[in-house]
Amino acid sequence: MTSFSDLNLDEPLLRALEKQGYETPTPIQGSAIPHLLEGKDLMGIAQTGGGKTAAFVLPILQTLSQDRTRPKAHMPTAIIIAPTRELASQIGKAIQIFTRDIKMFHTVVYGGAPYGPQMKDLQRGVDILVATPGRLMDHMKRGTVKLDNIQTFVLDEADRMLDMGFVEDVQEIASKMPANHQTVMFSATMSPQIKRLSKTLLNQPMYVEAPRETAVASTIEHSVLMVSRDHKKDLLMHLLGQSDKTKVIVFVRTKASTEGLVEDIHKNIEGIKANCIHGDKPQRARERTLRSFKNDRITVLVATDVAARGIDVSGISHVINYDLPMEAENYVHRVGRTGRAGASGIAISICEPRERNLLRSVEEFIKQKVTVDDDHPFPAPAYKDKRAPGKPKGRPFSKTKKPAFKGKAKLGGKPGGKPGGKPARTDKRADTRTKHVGAKPASRSSARPAAKRQNFKHAS
Ligand code: AMP
Repeated sequence: MTSFSDLNLDEPLLRALEKQGYETPTPIQGSAIPHLLEGKDLMGIAQTGGGKTAAFVLPILQTLSQDRTRPKAHMPTAIIIAPTRELASQIGKAIQIFTRDIKMFHTVVYGGAPYGPQMKDLQRGVDILVATPGRLMDHMKRGTVKLDNIQTFVLDEADRMLDMGFVEDVQEIASKMPANHQTVMFSATMSPQIKRLSKTLLNQPMYVEAPRETAVASTIEHSVLMVSRDHKKDLLMHLLGQSDKTKVIVFVRTKASTEGLVEDIHKNIEGIKANCIHGDKPQRARERTLRSFKNDRITVLVATDVAARGIDVSGISHVINYDLPMEAENYVHRVGRTGRAGASGIAISICEPRERNLLRSVEEFIKQKVTVDDDHPFPAPAYKDKRAPGKPKGRPFSKTKKPAFKGKAKLGGKPGGKPGGKPARTDKRADTRTKHVGAKPASRSSARPAAKRQNFKHAS
């Protein structure tokens, strides 16, 4: 597949894509869009970053704009549910971009935001409703959302939805829709639970899978700095004090540590503005912080994995893993925040001795050694690979211990570490697999039996 016009998308959408600078479909777009335009149910295995949003938004817009009638109050025609507020508002923004030349209404509803504007939009009538499950359930109970007219139902990041305990809500929501709607599920992983959920929701679905990002993009230089626990914070301040750190995400493991770290950064480094996002921060504050980061009003964003997943900010110069991720796969997500869209980026992981097993898991996952860089003021003994005893990785450990970081650093200090490992190549646009799961349906009109839908509430 070489171009969007090969996908049979309408002119207004092609114009919007061109304006947006999208030249060729990503693999997930190339494989999902034709099935969705045919009205088929679909299970997509894809992670954020591969263009899955446009993969489901474009067919919805095209299908809805054919024979469109003005939507009735409280009765959307398509519904997209997403596990987090950030993801829901990003989907809303994508819809906004693609509907510049199309008459189509949409709104985004999520918890933590006032009901007033949401009610007003729903009363006016929307074609597409984007929602988080909790707030959607609230609106359904209030009678401000009715699902009787739904033609397309999308569940984005279904695996996270299950992790966050939304399975019953999802089933309840699905059970309120008419029997013959199209259902689309996207998930980063195909766990047994996702398989079970897909069986209850999807009718003879097509299955598409984007190539998994198990490698770090070749545009990203990534390295690990070994440090003793006592000097971990000093090392972070040293790194942030260097002038090349123009837009940095610092990943930490716990919500509790985010705020303290921001205070430490302000205390220790002159001229740096930092802020944090984590799951417990009120929605408005999270949005404000993200906007400030996007607009360069803050240069350092301290974030937990959950809050950061799905955030699409361009121009990030550095990702610093202050704590290594507990799940190796998150390493790829985290470092992928820099070096986006072909730009180059640098990722630095700080590793204390007790975290070596996490580093090993990362290396096994990405099938690559992460270069140990001990060219910093607080080097701890180099990481020794247990699988190859006696062979320390990276440059030999320098015995001269440099003094600990003290006092305020100035922006524009001496640039430090030189990450230099040979990064693995990855090609996100490599082949995408498409296959048909189960027998082909005779037609949409023979869609699913109503009884199957009614079983949702009882499905595990
Ligand atoms: P997503 O995986 O949907 O969150 O998309 C990740 C990023 O890729 C977003 O910044 C999109 O704007 C961008 N994107 C999506 N599709 C394309 C495309 N075909 N060409 C270029 N960029 C794209």
